[in-house]
Amino acid sequence: MASKTMKDLLIMELRDIYDAEKQGLRGMNKVARKVTNEKLKEALSNHKEETEQQVERLKQVFELLDQRPRGKHCDAMEGLVSEAQEILEEGLEPEVLDAAIIAAIQKIEHYEIASYGTVHAYAEAIGNQEVAKLLEQTLNEEKKTDELLNKIAVGEVNKKAMQAAA
Ligand code: FE
Ligand code: FE
Ligand code: FE
Repeated sequence: MASKTMKDLLIMELRDIYDAEKQGLRGMNKVARKVTNEKLKEALSNHKEETEQQVERLKQVFELLDQRPRGKHCDAMEGLVSEAQEILEEGLEPEVLDAAIIAAIQKIEHYEIASYGTVHAYAEAIGNQEVAKLLEQTLNEEKKTDELLNKIAVGEVNKKAMQAAA
């Protein structure tokens, strides 16, 4: 068997993130229903729509690489989603739960940022600018989501969570 190349490695990573996005989408839907804070609700619902576009973007990427869009089970995302769901069972005050949900979703975003950072760099390394551009678009969306969640947590949700405990 011929040794695998950088392009093969890129495709392996793309299959992981393709599956991770789809798992994340299902996980996010379940968790989002338990959110109280309006800004957080809106942020999650916007990112849900964004994520659906990200899945479509990955299909485009596979096509550009002459590959059938195919996922490979992402164990890491399974763990992150299952941790997010466990939080719902902890009996947290609604405002405290919001804070915990933000943390769980940020862990998911950080995994995605790592993954898209990698595939974007690989696409540039093999000189496929079209693919690199698409992946960079998603990378930026994940970063923006992470920053927005940070803002909502620090600016609002964490304070309300503190008051709930008082
Ligand atoms: Fe995503
Ligand atoms: Fe993975
Ligand atoms: Fe995301």
